[in-house]
Amino acid sequence: HGLLVIATLGCGIVHAQKTSEREIDKKVDDLLSKMSIEEKVGQMTQVTLDVIMEDNSLVDINNKKLKEAIINKNVGSILNVKGHAYSMETWHKIQKRIQEVATKETPNNIPILYGIDAIHGANYIEGSTLFPHNIGMAASRNPELVKQASKITAIETRASGIRWNFDPVLGLGRQPLWSRFEETFGEDVHLVTEMGTAAIKGYEEDGLEGPTAVASCMKHYLGYSLPASGKDRTPAYIPEYTLREYLLPPFKSAVEAGTSTVMINSGEINGVPVHASKYLLTDLLRGELGFEGVAVSDWEDVIRLHTRHRVADTPKEAVRLAVEAGLDMSMVPYDYSFYNLLLELVKEGAISENRIDESVRRIIKLKYKLGLFDNPYPEKAALAKVDEKKSKAVALNAARETLTLLKNEKSVLPLSKDTKVLLAGPAANNLTSLHSSWSYVWQGKDDSQYPKSTATIKEALEDKLGKANVMSSAQRDYDNAANFDASQLKKDAAKADYIVLCLGEDAYAETPGNIDDLALDSRQLALAEAAIETGKPVILVLVEGRPRVISSIEKGIPGILLAYRPSTMGAQAIAEVLTGDYNPNGTLPYSYPKHTGDLVKYDHKYTEGVREDEPNTYSDGAYRPQWTFGYGLSYTTFQFSNLKSDKAAFSAGEKLSLTVTVKNSGEKAGKVAVELYSKDLYASITPNFKRLRKFKKIELAAGASKQVSFTISPEDLAFINAQGKSVTEPGVFNFVVQDQEVSVVYKESQQN
Ligand code: BGC
Repeated sequence: HGLLVIATLGCGIVHAQKTSEREIDKKVDDLLSKMSIEEKVGQMTQVTLDVIMEDNSLVDINNKKLKEAIINKNVGSILNVKGHAYSMETWHKIQKRIQEVATKETPNNIPILYGIDAIHGANYIEGSTLFPHNIGMAASRNPELVKQASKITAIETRASGIRWNFDPVLGLGRQPLWSRFEETFGEDVHLVTEMGTAAIKGYEEDGLEGPTAVASCMKHYLGYSLPASGKDRTPAYIPEYTLREYLLPPFKSAVEAGTSTVMINSGEINGVPVHASKYLLTDLLRGELGFEGVAVSDWEDVIRLHTRHRVADTPKEAVRLAVEAGLDMSMVPYDYSFYNLLLELVKEGAISENRIDESVRRIIKLKYKLGLFDNPYPEKAALAKVDEKKSKAVALNAARETLTLLKNEKSVLPLSKDTKVLLAGPAANNLTSLHSSWSYVWQGKDDSQYPKSTATIKEALEDKLGKANVMSSAQRDYDNAANFDASQLKKDAAKADYIVLCLGEDAYAETPGNIDDLALDSRQLALAEAAIETGKPVILVLVEGRPRVISSIEKGIPGILLAYRPSTMGAQAIAEVLTGDYNPNGTLPYSYPKHTGDLVKYDHKYTEGVREDEPNTYSDGAYRPQWTFGYGLSYTTFQFSNLKSDKAAFSAGEKLSLTVTVKNSGEKAGKVAVELYSKDLYASITPNFKRLRKFKKIELAAGASKQVSFTISPEDLAFINAQGKSVTEPGVFNFVVQDQEVSVVYKESQQN
């Protein structure tokens, strides 16, 4: 198949020509035959921008350090410094300088592959629009929004001169203590697969040649999101069944969707660091999944095989283990130890040059595909595609569709526009909690990094209700949330109709976000109790990356809106929902726990239903979260009826069509996620209580109805059996949409 290569000329004229995969392979081979072993090992080395900066001065990248990296150490790839945003112009200068040295002052003129963490938007470019974090995007149940957001991210990133993005995260959010929970698409494997694949399409489907695509990076392969302790980068213990049933499918689908690169999990599974696992990095990833792209390590993880995991007794052995396991590129990222040691290993014959060639071939091929050999500089054609208005519009739509209404007793919401509210809580008037990790700053509480125009919840509510109607006792400081004056709160509340209480979590990322307790911070709970005590109805807005347990205060609060990390346009969307300008339709992407120790998931096994108070309930009995997976209220009501299957029984090779009627039986137009679950009644290993198989977001005017259809193939009903194989077994399957259920018989066994 032809690949479209677009070479941009300085004057902005675009030339299109076709370069076939085979032609690229030939170019790669030609180049490889000219490269020295030093150049090859250099291609496998990635350093951070820090390493080539003198005195933190970016624009005048010091020749000495830059040249040391690119000319003397033959470095083939550079990545961002965590949490440093620059203007588009500064990025252009940086990229131009780097590529000039690489393509004019090295023996084979090989351009640099620059990688960046443009997570939830182009957060390394000052002022760019940031989209809700994945956990919220999953609540939208709208893969199209994910795709739109990643396409915009691709365009803006590419316009800055950078063509590789370390996104998306494909780990499952099943360990809510984990500090990167907000970067996941939630607890369900089908949901994560659909959303993750949409992200990859958004990044890559226009074609890597440009100007609207970047190479994506599925991460963190594999098992990173399930640390046993809940702490970031700590060991996971994952049986092969769990690995294949829950964790592998999003990566398999990402490979099928054509993701160009993969980042390796920093952690270890069953005592084997993933960076040293030939089984995971070669047999499974390349052998079984058929991945042909570039495998990059995570931050410093090769040396950590020696310093942290202690499976290598020397740094050199660490390098040998990782490369032998299947690593193509090491995110070193601070020094040249990897380069020096790998060079020694090849010269000593401990690693063959053939093995090095395999990795270098993949890296060079990606550079060709990205059009870097034709034009390594920031492309005018990409810059011309940047459309700030469109970015903001998509970010606003996304934020709206993520917001999840969890409680609305006696229709306390929406608030009428002449309501007087008292605004309180640490999340009410800051930007970092709305954005959290990877947002101009990597983490932390520095609001000054955000554009002045970005609204806080306070500002957005003032916009809707009028300044005079929003009284504020907002406490910026989460740690001092309890330093409120209860009698003042009571006095202020007396003048208001409602208290809007904004609680949750401030920004964090990775290990700084580790916590010991899922319960919401006790000081915030005390503030909530005092607010409830005032007797005024309390509306709780939760701004948080993971579900913080609030069961001790929930009963006293009639209205609860979960905002996740809605980012740039989030405050406006929150104000719209609170005041009824937007009808909420977010749908929980995880089971919101009621107790810190009760983490049963919606797709639990029947056998998890055994409780002491219900010893014989082999059912859904143990699933008692605060709110279930798939939960979410609207200001209208939807009725489901007439779930039907086109066949009472079906066989291998056949498809099933299931149809349900959805009616908006309320008085407001609204969107709703229609979700189809299956229940496998008997199987050779204990079946899940139910599993999400398909979902569709639809919009209905008040009073309107729609028929929604889903197609089910036998593969959709498969599971990993005791032999580790994906099978669909004959038997009865019940399909469920809301309160509707229909039985279908599947007739023959199928290996997938
Ligand atoms: C994170 C990765 C990220 C990398 C580069 C690591 O600490 O785990 O997700 O891509 O840093 O910034």
